[in-house]
Amino acid sequence: MLNMMDTSFDNCIKCTICTTRCPVAEANLDYPGPKQAGPDGERLRIKNPELYDEALKLCTNCKRCEVACPSGVQVGTVIQLAKARHGGFKKGPRELMLSHTDLMGSLSSTAAPIVNVITQLKPIKKLLDKTLGIDERLTLPKYSGQTFRSWFKKQEAEQARFERKISFFHGCFTNYNDTTVGRHLVQVLNAMNIGVSLLKKEKCCGVPLIANGFFDKARKNAELNMGQFADALDSSECVIATEPSCAMTLRDEYPEVLQVDNHLLRDQIFFASTFIARELSQGNVPKMKPLNLRVAYHSPCHLIKQGGVIHTLTLLNQIPGVEVIMLDQKCCGMSGTYGFKKENYQTSQIIGQGIFDQITELNVDYVVTDCESCKMQIEMNTDHQVLHPLTLMSQSLI
Ligand code: SF4
Ligand code: SF4
Repeated sequence: MLNMMDTSFDNCIKCTICTTRCPVAEANLDYPGPKQAGPDGERLRIKNPELYDEALKLCTNCKRCEVACPSGVQVGTVIQLAKARHGGFKKGPRELMLSHTDLMGSLSSTAAPIVNVITQLKPIKKLLDKTLGIDERLTLPKYSGQTFRSWFKKQEAEQARFERKISFFHGCFTNYNDTTVGRHLVQVLNAMNIGVSLLKKEKCCGVPLIANGFFDKARKNAELNMGQFADALDSSECVIATEPSCAMTLRDEYPEVLQVDNHLLRDQIFFASTFIARELSQGNVPKMKPLNLRVAYHSPCHLIKQGGVIHTLTLLNQIPGVEVIMLDQKCCGMSGTYGFKKENYQTSQIIGQGIFDQITELNVDYVVTDCESCKMQIEMNTDHQVLHPLTLMSQSLI
């Protein structure tokens, strides 16, 4: 049984800085903001559970309030756990579909060509909108015909020849939807004389499960993943994730939200840019050719939460001939599965508008971001193609 209470709310000094940083409070007047939904509300909810406010469902769990808080209040976590305690998660077929990414991925990728055509058809999108509440204006992610794990099987012999080795936590999106980032990670690390291995088994990190209220399932996944990490770290230096939300969940949400102890392994779990930036600073720089590109970089909320933006900028600045323009550090509004829900579509668009406008005004070749859900949102709302930093680095390898 999970302990659904985060006591950090007691440290709140009522400065309201968190509210000034909340993208939802700015975009949707129905949301009371992190101070009121988090620490203030928690004091009331403890006294009287009937004071639970349905507006908490509007929180995206972007964690910007936590980054801003000078008192270390885990506002996003306080809100997620309060929703869990007070029945604030609607767990219908849509939530099941959006959150059980392992299951959906394994079913859909086996019939990817058919699934990809069907889910882009207007009548099907309308049907999903009317029956499930998945907004028809969105482009649903496609599935890959070949999973990353099956692509990797052919790489295993090559990877075994490297003396140094890391374990790659590929996550659901890279395995089932788009294997590009995983393949580029392998290329980049190999160029730095580091081999890649996969965990014998991995489950979804749990971020969409937490966001949709499936805490018990998320915890089971966390326990399996931590067991796999412990085994893998006998023969590899560390575990690397290329998706910021996966890295944040494996490192921070496991102990803080799911009460899965990771303290013995946490320092060996890295976001990809963090690991690569450290290698670059120690002189392990792969041979690269100039790309002559101007790119705009969008920093994902969950990477900001980990303090990892500087590491991605270090990586990008190391690629010759790439001019990097830093976009305002604003949320794109998608927040994983949040923006897919019909009732959140408008809020999601209002939140992202600032970023969409800024990109449209800039004259850049590409937008770069580390997060797949930010990529989807930006590509749906601008004319720009969005690349992962590792894709750009792999293009420059000689
Ligand atoms: S997690 Fe994000 S959306 Fe939720 S209260 Fe904090 S800043 Fe607002
Ligand atoms: S920023 Fe932290 S201390 Fe200030 S009001 Fe928000 S939760 Fe309280």
